[in-house]
Amino acid sequence: MTTESGRVSESPSAIAGPDAVPGATAGTPKDNQYSRRPGGDARNRTDPDSHRTGTPKHDLDILIVGAGLSGIGAAHHIQSAFPNRTYAILEARDAIGGTWDLFRYPGVRSDSDMHTLGYRFRPWTQAKAIADGPSILQYVRDTATDAGIDRHIRFGHRVTAASWSTEDTRWTVEAVHNGSPVRLTARFLYGCTGYYDYDNGHAPEFPGVEQFEGTVVHPQHWPADLDHTGKKVVVIGSGATAVTLVPAMAEQAGHVTMLQRSPTYIIAIPGEDAIANTLRRVLGPRRAYAITRWKNVALATLIYQLSRRRPRAVKSFIRKATASQLPPGYDLDTHFKPRYQPWDQRLCLVPDGDLFRSIRHGKSSVVTDTIDHFTRTGVRLASGAELDADIVVTATGLRLLAFGGIQVTVDDQPVKLPETMAYKGMMLSDIPNFVFTIGYTNASWTLKADLVSEYFVRILRHLDAHGYDEFVPTNNDPTVTDQPLMDFQAGYVLRAIHDFPRAGSRAPWRLGMSYANDVVNLRYGRVDDGVMRFSRRPAVVSSPAVP
Ligand SMILES: Cc1cc2nc3c(=O)[nH]c(=O)nc-3n(C[C@H](O)[C@H](O)[C@H](O)COP(=O)(O)OP(=O)(O)OC[C@H]3O[C@@H](n4cnc5c(N)ncnc54)[C@H](O)[C@@H]3O)c2cc1C
Repeated sequence: MTTESGRVSESPSAIAGPDAVPGATAGTPKDNQYSRRPGGDARNRTDPDSHRTGTPKHDLDILIVGAGLSGIGAAHHIQSAFPNRTYAILEARDAIGGTWDLFRYPGVRSDSDMHTLGYRFRPWTQAKAIADGPSILQYVRDTATDAGIDRHIRFGHRVTAASWSTEDTRWTVEAVHNGSPVRLTARFLYGCTGYYDYDNGHAPEFPGVEQFEGTVVHPQHWPADLDHTGKKVVVIGSGATAVTLVPAMAEQAGHVTMLQRSPTYIIAIPGEDAIANTLRRVLGPRRAYAITRWKNVALATLIYQLSRRRPRAVKSFIRKATASQLPPGYDLDTHFKPRYQPWDQRLCLVPDGDLFRSIRHGKSSVVTDTIDHFTRTGVRLASGAELDADIVVTATGLRLLAFGGIQVTVDDQPVKLPETMAYKGMMLSDIPNFVFTIGYTNASWTLKADLVSEYFVRILRHLDAHGYDEFVPTNNDPTVTDQPLMDFQAGYVLRAIHDFPRAGSRAPWRLGMSYANDVVNLRYGRVDDGVMRFSRRPAVVSSPAVP
């Protein structure tokens, strides 16, 4: 069936229709390259594979934006599935690793276990399950170099705009490199840009900060030469970064105070996973990794589900566990009794109870109060108390940024992200040939990142099998209502979620937060689900010659 735009919509008859080449994939190369396209003789259409014949020079099959954990993983999946397909990674920075290269504050580490934060295809083999930042960075770099992915990265390329042309079935991606514009085209665009602004963290205005004579730092821009030995340090915040920084800085600092407006749920867990380490010795790295991964997924799911269904029981459990880590008589109600329910915000994990240990040893302390203003020597609190400080760390969080700030247009129409709806949490309504990675908020990011890549590979195979060029999720169901993309109460999410795409009230538009469900749906579910539309490039048909 030919639609108004001349595109061939998906239906069995269309597949078998005159525009189709029976057995389209038969005889195509092993990786199903787009070297042979059903839908007509290449002579009567603009050659969509002109890059294979040498022009234009910068045309690729797939363009990935971002060389962090997700971008390197995406490249690995793509080149393993389609070794002959062309791809590049555009990376704004001059390094691989994203988050794990950017953040350099003392003690930087994961707050979820590496058996689930690691890639499915590359076992994490170190003893520590909660790993330090440099080890994670090395893991990502090793993945890239071992597979030759690093040769596909174009560093220092900040992508500013991406425009889809239906006529060309192509993305034109604009980047800035050394101050000059660069333009590439690609059939598919894969956004692995993370979820926050790399240039600036969230930095609330604190009155009087200009008169403070000490040093103020944000964890996102840690000065390499900052020496905190013997210093009085105040860390503002109580999220994952603050609870990491406090015990790490307390090792050399004179004293570290964690200044929080309100408490967070914090749980001590073993830094090493004894079961994982034993399994690795007995079964070898691959089998042990697969088992440990599922064990940890099951445990995290159990804790999450219990938190949502039995919040009182979970609160009571966390309280007892916290009390057991702190000196008798410690004021838990003031400092460790959050106002929200467990998993309304991410639980903070502290390996081997390092935060609590430093509190017990008097190296650090917690103050729950609000800042009234900065003084020359520290901060004055709303209660009237004053905290002296040489260094103040504003661990006040991230500034969310959707898709690395890339301006997206489709057929010259600018896309307003809040007017789009996320499909399976990895594509956007009415935006063709575009995939993105945003990880789970209640589990390790990479669990979802791997599934997104696997699903993208399945979509590409489906396109090949049916001779399609384009996929686009389209919501034609008026009963699907919209809702925020992330149902998460953390301040950094609430501050920016209105700039993000929306989610829908039901599948496939509802953002799934269950890895097990996503495995079933994304690894095994139907690609052709009635919501995703597939089509062929419109043929440019010349008038038949008159005999
Ligand atoms: C301190 C910290 C600790 C964390 N710990 C955990 C954890 O323990 N577990 C967990 O699951 N998650 C954690 N996260 C979330 C974390 O961001 C993800 O785990 C994961 O690292 C994200 O990988 P990514 O590649 O998707 O994004 P990022 O790591 O953010 O990488 C994105 C890359 O894209 C590039 N980029 C962005 N925009 C553009 C553009 N316009 N043009 C070109 N390049 C661009 C960036 O320069 C960057 O290199 C943590 C986050 C932080 C900040």
